[in-house]
Amino acid sequence: MKIEQSLPPCQHSALGYLCGPFPKGLSKRVYIESYGCQMNVSDSEVVASILAKDGYTPVKSAEEADLVLLNTCSIREKAEYTVMQRINEMNNLKASNKELKVGVLGCMAERMREDLLEKKKVVDLVVGPDAYRTLPELLEKVGTGQKAVNVLLSREETYSEIEPVRLDTNGVSAFVTIMRGCDNMCAFCVVPFTRGRERSRDPHTIVDECRKLVAQGYREVTLLGQNVDSYRWNIDSRGNVKDPDLPVTDFADLLDMVARVSPLLRVRYSTSHPKDMTDKVLAVMARYDNICKYIHLPVQSGSSQVLHRMNRGYDRAWYLERIASIRKHMPDCAISTDIIAGFCGETEEEHRETLTLMESVAYDMAFMFKYSERPKTLAARKYPDDVPEEVKGRRLQEIIDVQKRSSSARMLGYIGQVHEVLVEGVSKRSAEHLYGRNTQNAVVILSRWWNGTELKPGMFVTTEITNATAGSLQGRIIGIMNEQPVNA
Ligand code: SAM
Ligand code: SF4
Repeated sequence: MKIEQSLPPCQHSALGYLCGPFPKGLSKRVYIESYGCQMNVSDSEVVASILAKDGYTPVKSAEEADLVLLNTCSIREKAEYTVMQRINEMNNLKASNKELKVGVLGCMAERMREDLLEKKKVVDLVVGPDAYRTLPELLEKVGTGQKAVNVLLSREETYSEIEPVRLDTNGVSAFVTIMRGCDNMCAFCVVPFTRGRERSRDPHTIVDECRKLVAQGYREVTLLGQNVDSYRWNIDSRGNVKDPDLPVTDFADLLDMVARVSPLLRVRYSTSHPKDMTDKVLAVMARYDNICKYIHLPVQSGSSQVLHRMNRGYDRAWYLERIASIRKHMPDCAISTDIIAGFCGETEEEHRETLTLMESVAYDMAFMFKYSERPKTLAARKYPDDVPEEVKGRRLQEIIDVQKRSSSARMLGYIGQVHEVLVEGVSKRSAEHLYGRNTQNAVVILSRWWNGTELKPGMFVTTEITNATAGSLQGRIIGIMNEQPVNA
């Protein structure tokens, strides 16, 4: 990136470029690489914002950078292994750029700080998910040749007023974090240990962020939290109002507030928790056309006994009742899920219950994983990881096979229907085609031109679905709904 692009306009120059001495650190370049969930992508944007104030400009590759930050994920052993390999690769980069500094952020920083600092000589900086505000001071220390670390978790930090610097953006869709941490303690999950206690962000700062995004041309926000259904503002976990002079906001209220920001703004969210998802939320979703008809509702297992061991707080019947309620409120709503194969003690019968549940729900999409034991979790302390690796693999494959059939059936069912599609970008396969998504989150491939008009990202188009594969739909454009491309 050229340096002029990052400079503030100069008061004294007709050209508008800075003429005086560079402010401290203005030429520093940071490359942030995100692993794992959407929350990490969103956190990286907060980090970019904090560093921008410290004079850092984001760049698109580690090779161009003075500072490389790896924002890491601990959810499964394999995720950590991938990051460890990447950390090792940093040795080569440091060999060719002696000034390069390397930092590890996020869940692995929290979980493995000693290991990272002691065993990985290449790492200069280790910062946990609640300590990003301290990055400037930590980097100052790193600048003097010392290692720096801050992995303190917080009960308050929500980065609420920080305006994220959008990285790798298509200019159309953006993540907005509404809460941090998790209080649920699912037996398999490391998140409560790496991201700390649950806290919700001030709803007014969320709405402000969404308004600014609309003004910048964005047309879709995804509200993020580990369990959005337990979002609450001005009320504690026992239901006591904290400040009687202020309104109480739950997730349904927040959705309502965000939906009213603009009819041109699509609203999505992730992740719902089956034990907490209320009919009030479903009613708000049904009420607004611009709240997308798509819910990610992780089930994890179809067996009530396994769900009990997982400490998920619901059973099979409860989950199926929640699915029925979604269908009642929004018959056209797409539903996706997360499933874990081979959790501790899972029998063949329990595994088959997962397959039958999947068949009865007929998910549009699923993220499917082999169970991976994580240190400190309830499961690691309480249950042996006793399903053999090859059995986990076979069960996972059976789960994937059911899902493939159900995804194909769902996609084929769209053929002949008319959908509103938000155009997001140019198709990877052909420059003559664009891609977008319908409200159900299915990818739709469209021609770049319609009646002599070139479609642009940010446009809403009415489309007849003409063809389908398991991964995407093809659409014939019928009309353009707004003729205001966002990034023309
Ligand atoms: N908060 C969300 C929820 O309650 O479902 C999801 C959080 S987690 C980042 C995403 C998914 O990773 C989980 O839904 C689960 O399926 C999977 N997962 C978490 N821990 C796992 C583990 N130890 N082994 C395998 N998969 C795991
Ligand atoms: Fe992990 Fe459960 Fe919290 Fe999701 S709800 S982040 S799976 S502990």
